[in-house]
Amino acid sequence: APLSLGIDIGGSKVAAGVVNAEGEVLEELRRATPGRDARAVEAVIGELVHELEGRHRIDSVGIGAAGWMDLPGSTVVFSPHLAWRDEPLRQNLEATLHRPVLVTNDADAAAWAEWRFGAGRGRDRMVMLTLGTGIGGALVIDGRVERGSFGMAGEFGHQIIMPGGHRCECGNRGCWEQYASGNALGREGRELARKHSPMAAGLLAAANGRPKNITGSVVTALALEGEATAQELVAEVGEWLGLGIANLAAALDPALFVIGGGLSAAGELLLDPTRRAYLRNLTGRGYRQEALIMKAQLGPSAGLVGAADLARTQQRPLERYR
Ligand code: BGC
Ligand code: ZN
Repeated sequence: APLSLGIDIGGSKVAAGVVNAEGEVLEELRRATPGRDARAVEAVIGELVHELEGRHRIDSVGIGAAGWMDLPGSTVVFSPHLAWRDEPLRQNLEATLHRPVLVTNDADAAAWAEWRFGAGRGRDRMVMLTLGTGIGGALVIDGRVERGSFGMAGEFGHQIIMPGGHRCECGNRGCWEQYASGNALGREGRELARKHSPMAAGLLAAANGRPKNITGSVVTALALEGEATAQELVAEVGEWLGLGIANLAAALDPALFVIGGGLSAAGELLLDPTRRAYLRNLTGRGYRQEALIMKAQLGPSAGLVGAADLARTQQRPLERYR
């Protein structure tokens, strides 16, 4: 049976996995994303592919990267969290890997995986949101990831939700991902600790007394252990999430929002306040159907599974997947 290799390049992690036609991951490897150095990221991709190719017979390779692709999927035009600026990523990788490579946005890849194998199966219209370093976004309509006219549809994380708010890595102020991502959660935790808030004792204890060690995943883990301040911070992020989702519902009217990425591990601690804020802010509430807001089912592997599956299936007729 044909196997495909998928790679997910996020702001903090590179994950690579061998995926079969059912979307199952046979082997997965992870590395830290090398800082702001485009060549170093490509080198890591090369190493991961070579290592996995040594153990599996691989027919296709797909990359989901945290960047904005041009429509043909050859150039990463811009990335808020990585070093790419007009980077001919596909050409570079095809030259080092000596084979065709599919390149797409990381959230587009995760959305495809959830639609094919996870929470979005059978839905005609779903929005995917991945909460990690930033907010990744994607829209799946009738079994197709909507790419827009120029390849950049679905960048929901950069809707401005707070004019004059926190500066975003994209250059603007007040982007949604500054309020509803894993990074936003970490920043709020650190801020609380640096102000010597009496509420921050639990956070500081989990971070060896050093505010800078308080990250989104530290706060998420604490919240899941039942720590009250961490739970409050997660709930606050959930409210921002729900507000943005209400805006997206007004524009796109999908039946389902799927929430993935590291922060989704918080589960109902996040999603319950999210749903309440969504309903509070939904326009026309009471006179319209309400979308479901569900946790992603494929966990942190969704991006690589989707990238692998897109690479494997891109030549096949769309009708097969309807
Ligand atoms: C980028 C997206 C990416 C997301 C998650 C955002 O800041 O604009 O392209 O999908 O982060 O990695
Ligand atoms: Zn932004």
